[in-house]
Amino acid sequence: MQNVSVAVIPGDGIGNETVRAGRRVLDAAAELDGGIKFEYTEFEWGCAYYLRHGEMAPKGFLNTLANFDTILLGAVGYPGVPDHVSLWGLLLPIRRGFEQYVNLRPVRILRGVVSPLRGRNPGDVNFVCIRENTEGEYSNMGGRLHAGLPHEVVVQNTVFTRVGTERIIRYAYQLAANAPRKRLCGATKSNGINYTMPYWDEIFNEIGEREFPEVNRWLCHIDALAANFVLKPDEFDVVVASNLFGDILTDLGGAIMGSIGMAASANINPERRYPSMFEPVHGSAPDIAGRGIANPVGQIWSVSLMLEHLGRADLGKAVLDAVEDVLEEGRVRTPDLGGRNTTDEMTDAVIARLAQRL
Ligand code: ATP
Ligand code: MG
Repeated sequence: MQNVSVAVIPGDGIGNETVRAGRRVLDAAAELDGGIKFEYTEFEWGCAYYLRHGEMAPKGFLNTLANFDTILLGAVGYPGVPDHVSLWGLLLPIRRGFEQYVNLRPVRILRGVVSPLRGRNPGDVNFVCIRENTEGEYSNMGGRLHAGLPHEVVVQNTVFTRVGTERIIRYAYQLAANAPRKRLCGATKSNGINYTMPYWDEIFNEIGEREFPEVNRWLCHIDALAANFVLKPDEFDVVVASNLFGDILTDLGGAIMGSIGMAASANINPERRYPSMFEPVHGSAPDIAGRGIANPVGQIWSVSLMLEHLGRADLGKAVLDAVEDVLEEGRVRTPDLGGRNTTDEMTDAVIARLAQRL
């Protein structure tokens, strides 16, 4: 029996509703399989905690989390607490402290979903974005001089280290080497950004040439690449991008998939020195929080990624297949997908399908 300890951080808003859906699906998969078992510990950290205690989580929370095999996160951020407080107070310390330098986000039109891209059907679009998750443009370094004066100057530094750049690009190559068409696209902007991006390109080409000659690699400027996400999304197997570029591209990827409520993400520490963290791409959605109508698919897909990371790709695939069965059947849908069902009803439907598949 594989026993897995899961730290659960529901966070804010609909995170509380979707995390419950994720846990229920994990438990259903575990029970049907019989070879894996999950033990959860919930932590009520986030913006509500901040309003009571003046911090997003208690001091030393990373030490607490380090003892778990994996982390399941809902969503963090709520009106009344500035974004930089919620981000730098909880999410970013976990990503950086646990060296979760890979942010993996699948971009895929699921069966039964209508993409806003005209003429694109399930099967046409199926690739993975790898976003650098610890450095780059989100460096927290910079400064502001002469505030409010006509000669005011503001600088934000971008940091690309050799270790940080090589490890994310190598990870993306490894994924691409296992993809059917072995295609890897690197996002760049080396014409306008003339120190960091040429460096990124250099390492991209070096590692490709030396270690992965079998991978078909190409670099694409971020502006053209964004256009190609819309015009030629079938071209991609794996896309690797810096922190900022990856952030923007994956939101676009989520939009292509039909609803932000369906996109999932994994924050991975590939060396497994620290726990990895799995979460939906969407935020806390204050506009629909507390009504029980959030789409649980992004969170359920995130537990599918978790299962894969735990060495149970078979279970992860069964979960995503079950989600697609429900979407294709089209009977049970949350309002963002044009239906009238609740989060719980959609989760029930996925679990029922899962039971047929396992
Ligand atoms: P954050 O800053 O945390 O990324 P945000 O305000 O930018 O959050 P979301 O919280 O993701 O973005 O919400 C954007 C819109 O998408 C909202 O209208 C929200 O209701 C909707 N939305 C987000 N997630 C879901 C979901 N799981 N199901 C249905 N609608 C969702
Ligand atoms: Mg946002």
